[in-house]
Amino acid sequence: MDKADIPKIKYIEGRERTTELVCIPGKAPFIRFIPFSNKTKSEAENTGLTIESGACDFVIHGFSTRLGGVSEGIFSSMNFASNRGDAPENILENFRIMGESLGIPAESMVYAKQTHTINVLHVNEYNKGMGVTRERDFNDIDALVTDTPGVCLVAGFADCIPVFFIDTKRKAIGLAHSGWRGTVNDIIYETVKKMSELFGTDPGDIRAFVGPGICAEHYEVGNDVADEFKNKYPDAEKMGILRKKDNTGIDSGNMSGGSSGEKYYLDLTLACRDNLINTGVPEDKVFLSDICTCCNPELLHSHRFTKGQRGGLCGFLMIR
Ligand SMILES: [Zn+2]
Repeated sequence: MDKADIPKIKYIEGRERTTELVCIPGKAPFIRFIPFSNKTKSEAENTGLTIESGACDFVIHGFSTRLGGVSEGIFSSMNFASNRGDAPENILENFRIMGESLGIPAESMVYAKQTHTINVLHVNEYNKGMGVTRERDFNDIDALVTDTPGVCLVAGFADCIPVFFIDTKRKAIGLAHSGWRGTVNDIIYETVKKMSELFGTDPGDIRAFVGPGICAEHYEVGNDVADEFKNKYPDAEKMGILRKKDNTGIDSGNMSGGSSGEKYYLDLTLACRDNLINTGVPEDKVFLSDICTCCNPELLHSHRFTKGQRGGLCGFLMIR
């Protein structure tokens, strides 16, 4: 794909630059996370990020865009959502195309079966291809972990937050789907716990990336959701996780004065960051995406922007 065909990216205001679009001629573009990529020390210093050069070299990672695939209409064109009406052969072809870009065969991928749980599955050779080139034998799995080289963790997104984990010491990885339920119920904690149990991971050795999802400006929620976040994060408003919407002039017909009409903006990315730090991941090893799915509807699939008429993106993470 030609770089000239790429829509202009809108970045989240005030965020450090942490992503870059990789455009290899003739291949589908994908998003790479600068804190995970193989930068020289001087390049790292230029971005202002603290990167131990080469610490993540043993891992291949990427995040898809909606460009460069074969799907049409609302799925156009790189779609990985398999339960929304797109043809299975299109989705398989999209996995193959994205695999070409990343250097990962579709047969090596394992695709989570996400249902907003906090269930974590350990995958290895046995699971290769599940959800991609063959049937899964698991259900209700929102995070995958492995320490097996050549097994690619895959999870799907369209506003929910992808969280990538790399244990640079024990050489193990994890990939989690953290929507609002997963964030409140702390799938991040569950993923790290599983990595510790299985691989001896010390959270202090994890480098984590909170990937592209919906920004607070675009994520308005009601009292029911806001209350769950206030319970988990008593300082949610002080921390910027919740910001009350100014309702002046809105719902003026409601004279009861009740709080049922209250709306909040929810910053899932900041909540995920807090979960990571509380789980023991060092603050300087937690990196946040600088792009929002809903801010970039031509580049990324967004559930909110399209009111549900949409395809899905995927995150990919594999030990070489
Ligand atoms: Zn946004």
